[in-house]
Amino acid sequence: MHVLLVEDEPAIADTLVYALKTECFDVHHALTGQAALDAFAAKSFDFAILDIGLPDMTGLEVCKKLRESSSVPVLFLTARDGEVDRILGLELGGDDYVTKPFSPREIVARIRAILRRSQNGSAAPAPAAAKPELPAGPLQHDPHAMRIHCHGTELDLTAHEYKLLLVFLKNPRRVLSRDQLLDHAWADPGAVTDRTIDAHIKSIRAKLRAVKAGAEDFIQTRRGLGYLFVP
Ligand code: CA
Repeated sequence: MHVLLVEDEPAIADTLVYALKTECFDVHHALTGQAALDAFAAKSFDFAILDIGLPDMTGLEVCKKLRESSSVPVLFLTARDGEVDRILGLELGGDDYVTKPFSPREIVARIRAILRRSQNGSAAPAPAAAKPELPAGPLQHDPHAMRIHCHGTELDLTAHEYKLLLVFLKNPRRVLSRDQLLDHAWADPGAVTDRTIDAHIKSIRAKLRAVKAGAEDFIQTRRGLGYLFVP
């Protein structure tokens, strides 16, 4: 498994390279966006980890360029929560993201999960443009309009409800703690509390139920742990 790691901070890069090599990944480390694109042109990679803040261009721009010729799974590393909004908003075809600081073990787990998803999703690699945003199911995401449909009916969601539900859609059957949901859906997670998450989930469930009785059960509560999306 060949991994392209693009990260300009040596301390973070060293830790990740070590963790990935321990897990038997073959790692190519690039310090800049251009070095990453050059490496990508010269060699085929199975996975890319892109830091957003790079000296010469953003990780988002690197992803956009990669997507011109490849549907390689991409995991973004973000330093600021504000960047998460841009990743979600731009819909660049990144597969996941983690916010710094993170543990190398978390990165390895995310990579394995993404690879499992992409292997289950399609036997033959599809061109980037044709890659489905999410697997087919009762909930459908329209990334361009930034809308989510339930059984064909468009849900009238607030911005935070949309981001929250999107986090669930992208992480099916995975328990998400309130902290993880806050990190992913709020630009400033310090400003809100666990109760905020609970209130938003209650509202999302009500909107799902309004479309179809029972649809609210897509989001299940795991007491003491968080929430789980079961499509
Ligand atoms: Ca950086």
